[in-house]
Amino acid sequence: MWKTYRGPSCLEPLALPPHNRLMARMKSSIADNKRSQHQLIAASSIAVALAVMGIKYIAYLMTGSVALFSDALESIVNVLTAIAALVAIRIGAQPPDRSHPFGHHKAEYFAAVLEGALIIVAAFMIFREAYFAFYEPRSLNQPVAGLMVNAFATAINAAWAWVLMSRGRIWNSPAMAGDGRHLLSDVITSVGVLIGLILATITGWNVLDPLLAAIVAFNILRIGYNLAVESMSQLLDQAASPEIQARILAAIRANGEGALQAHDIRTRTAGPQTFIEFHLVVPGDMTVLTAHGICDRIEYALEQELANTDVVIHVEPDHKAKPKAPVQL
Ligand code: ZN
Ligand code: ZN
Repeated sequence: MWKTYRGPSCLEPLALPPHNRLMARMKSSIADNKRSQHQLIAASSIAVALAVMGIKYIAYLMTGSVALFSDALESIVNVLTAIAALVAIRIGAQPPDRSHPFGHHKAEYFAAVLEGALIIVAAFMIFREAYFAFYEPRSLNQPVAGLMVNAFATAINAAWAWVLMSRGRIWNSPAMAGDGRHLLSDVITSVGVLIGLILATITGWNVLDPLLAAIVAFNILRIGYNLAVESMSQLLDQAASPEIQARILAAIRANGEGALQAHDIRTRTAGPQTFIEFHLVVPGDMTVLTAHGICDRIEYALEQELANTDVVIHVEPDHKAKPKAPVQL
């Protein structure tokens, strides 16, 4: 029964003043454009990661090196994170509907939890290979050709890392810049593996190969673990960051003139959306019209401050005031 939708409520965009509605439409068309650009980058990231993984896998087949196997599997992290980014953009950005009135942002966390699990599986596959190679170290077949093939794939990764970091900066997207930095850290690992394998080939110290593979696997395990834990915490309605919370308090403080205090402030985030709810204490004899005006002013200020906010304010008379409210007006 709770699914039946009873038409516009006071929070519907229809209830907004006309200038707000126009602004919302302008904002959403800018967002659409940005979304299609991000979608293109995410799709290209999948293609690049698949190509790099394929080429690195060929280098592994040529040499039989476990370290090159681990280096190839590391690309699976990038394939999966790029798929999650695409899921976030396509499903996560769908507007709220009847059965999901708070939006679909959490789709990306589901994708990320699944990815974290798959990444951990990849790490254990490498550990398994490294374990066998450790007890039976072999010298590499075709070391020169194999290492050059791997170096070629690493160069592709480096170029794409540069594209992501510069686009991220231009589009002011910390997530994209972060992906670029992650890819750059892969490039550094790959260079480390290559140097190690060159040393192994020169010195004949073949045990370096599984040792390098194990180091790469530990790194992959760490990434998978962090991703899974962080995403599960988000699924459990993690609060906004302390920095965002401080900005919320400041915006309420600066725009709450006429009210007495705000308390019981709760936040949660879902993708780019920040949900904020709190109690606003006003003088008991204030008219509903005036109290609603204060609420609209605060809601508008929060939207200006953070963008993508969903604010619910519960208005209370003065005898509901709490002695230790975080915002005293
Ligand atoms: Zn209203
Ligand atoms: Zn209260």
